[in-house]
Amino acid sequence: MHLDPFALHRPTSVDETVRLAGSLAGRFDYLAGGTDLLPNYKMHLNLRPNLIALEDVGELRGHGAGRFGAMERLAELDDDPAIRAEYPVLADAVGEVATPLVRASGTVGGNLLVETRCFFFNQSYFWRESLGFCLKADGDRCHVVPQKEKCYATFSGDLAPALMALDAEVEVAGPAGRSRRPLEALYDAAGDGIRRVHLAPGELLVAVHVPAASRGLHGRYKKLRVRPSYDFPELGVAVAGRWDGDRVASLRLAVGGVEPHPRRFDALTEPLVGSALSDDRLRALADEVMRQLRPVHNTFLLPDYRKRMIGVYVRRAVDEARRGSAS
Ligand SMILES: Cc1cc2nc3c(=O)[nH]c(=O)nc-3n(C[C@H](O)[C@H](O)[C@H](O)COP(=O)(O)OP(=O)(O)OC[C@H]3O[C@@H](n4cnc5c(N)ncnc54)[C@H](O)[C@@H]3O)c2cc1C
Ligand code: SF4
Repeated sequence: MHLDPFALHRPTSVDETVRLAGSLAGRFDYLAGGTDLLPNYKMHLNLRPNLIALEDVGELRGHGAGRFGAMERLAELDDDPAIRAEYPVLADAVGEVATPLVRASGTVGGNLLVETRCFFFNQSYFWRESLGFCLKADGDRCHVVPQKEKCYATFSGDLAPALMALDAEVEVAGPAGRSRRPLEALYDAAGDGIRRVHLAPGELLVAVHVPAASRGLHGRYKKLRVRPSYDFPELGVAVAGRWDGDRVASLRLAVGGVEPHPRRFDALTEPLVGSALSDDRLRALADEVMRQLRPVHNTFLLPDYRKRMIGVYVRRAVDEARRGSAS
């Protein structure tokens, strides 16, 4: 496997980056840490002739006071004890991404926009050619759910569910200026699974903002994966909440690693606010999340097993967050 030649551009400000993106009219990818993009390029997955490196854009760096720059390295968060103290669910999730080496290069923005994954996609060109290409790259059919309209590749980033549970917003810059939107609105839940996010052509992720009200929420991120030292999530459950004695004062739950986009479950958690969370109610919550999510057979673990583990991990995450609040 080798990298084909590409032109590398190195802007130094957000405005210059957006102008450059406009002039390249879709024939580029942004390059952050490159830990996801460059392996995909080596496998000849959806290559573009230009890469816009974000390394020198100073505004994308740094974290503090609820702001996380898109180019902040995951290792910077992993090394900061304030993250563990203020946002335990995020500290859990960051610490579970890949390996220390990948976290030294991987960034917050790259993690939120990581490519979706599938057995039939994360393969070399020759492997894919021998079977027949698929919808997501070079082909016109899906090998997982045979049809020609939708890709079911799995969203496999760890940070998104944790940041959703913290009610985060993303700040985006584009030709039309700056805007903010809830993190969950970044993901294209109703789309064809190939266009995975709602970003207009050339739009750049600048930062993630976590509201002050989410600071100090008790939380846990529970991740199912094959090799605990290394692998992408086969399931990731994030919980953040507050308890007033036995009563739930606030509770948010989000799940990634199962479907083509991460999902937040406010409709199930909001009715629980104000009352005690008995074992029966927790089991009912876990069962309903499990019922609503539909893994397909495109990752290592079988869908039936992943589905059953959703219930187990939701119960564990909520229970551990609740016990953390009592200690
Ligand atoms: C061995 C291995 C194991 C891994 N395990 C995990 C894991 O367990 N959990 C996990 O979550 N990830 C995992 N990853 C994937 C990846 O390393 C991380 O998600 C990482 O955080 C990606 O960040 P990056 O900066 O390297 O992204 P890049 O590869 O540079 O970019 C990823 C995508 O985001 C786009 N992008 C990046 N920044 C911006 C921006 N500011 N605005 C617009 N678009 C942008 C790029 O164009 C590209 O499409 C693994 C990778 C490897 C190689
Ligand atoms: S889910 Fe189907 S279309 Fe998507 S990557 Fe896998 S085989 Fe390709």
